[in-house]
Amino acid sequence: MQVIADPAGFRAAATSSGSPLVLVPTMGALHEGHRALIRRARKLAGSTGTVAVSIFVNPIQFDRAGDLAAYPKPLEADLAACEAEGADLIFTPEAGSMYHPDRSVTVTESLLSRHLCGATRPGHFDGVCTVVLKLFLLSGADSAVFGEKDFQQLAIIRRMVRDLDVPVEIIGHPTIREADGLAMSSRNVRLLPDHRADAPRIRQSLLAARDLLATGERSATALLASARAGIEGSTFAKIDYLELVDAETLQPVSEIERPAVLATAVFYGEVRLIDHLTLQP
Ligand code: AMP
Repeated sequence: MQVIADPAGFRAAATSSGSPLVLVPTMGALHEGHRALIRRARKLAGSTGTVAVSIFVNPIQFDRAGDLAAYPKPLEADLAACEAEGADLIFTPEAGSMYHPDRSVTVTESLLSRHLCGATRPGHFDGVCTVVLKLFLLSGADSAVFGEKDFQQLAIIRRMVRDLDVPVEIIGHPTIREADGLAMSSRNVRLLPDHRADAPRIRQSLLAARDLLATGERSATALLASARAGIEGSTFAKIDYLELVDAETLQPVSEIERPAVLATAVFYGEVRLIDHLTLQP
């Protein structure tokens, strides 16, 4: 396994390594969710291909300075996890080597990013699209694996690749959860013990809304009220957003007539957690 911080060095190593090259972009603090993505990449690359993992806490996708400063960076443990999962090439750039001080070009998606995280985190998806496109160009990846946990991110990256003719196949991987249902996240380690114990209610509240749908209730107002009551039953949880959107367009719906996504972001103190559930009519 090769660890490279310099973008030009990474490009050279990626270009001369075996194909196909499968990229797994991450911000590090790797957990079982990331590891599942790397294992998936290993399978896709086969024994002759290359698995590249980028570990980069991308400053331009953070909307809160405190969140960026508090983001965990356990590099040694991350490298051990990459090695254990059979990754070949690890890219660990510094922010200064990824962004020119006077950079002036950004990739903006303007439709799928209107709601959900796009509405409450201004500039977030511009930062994501910009860094992901840079990583695709530097690595020359044939394909890249992303988690369905960040389903809006996945939809926006698929759209970017479609609209800009980027020759990278995008592969989505299911959300990996803790035993109590909490979606794994690098931010979970920052939860206070009381908050960690309470956080499974996020998924439970989404599941309760799905149970309500199963009884024949299709109205967004009723389904959202059900999920909201579940989350707000907590003394700690503060809803950042809770929305029901069409699964394809990511625009709000008033009634479930086609596949839809019930999605939420919840603050526990300074820690923001996201989760979602697909609802079928
Ligand atoms: P991050 O390091 O949070 O930027 O995530 C890097 C990649 O891992 C993204 O494609 C995420 O969607 C994915 N990911 C994060 N958490 C999970 C999870 N619990 N299950 C599956 N994929 C995940």
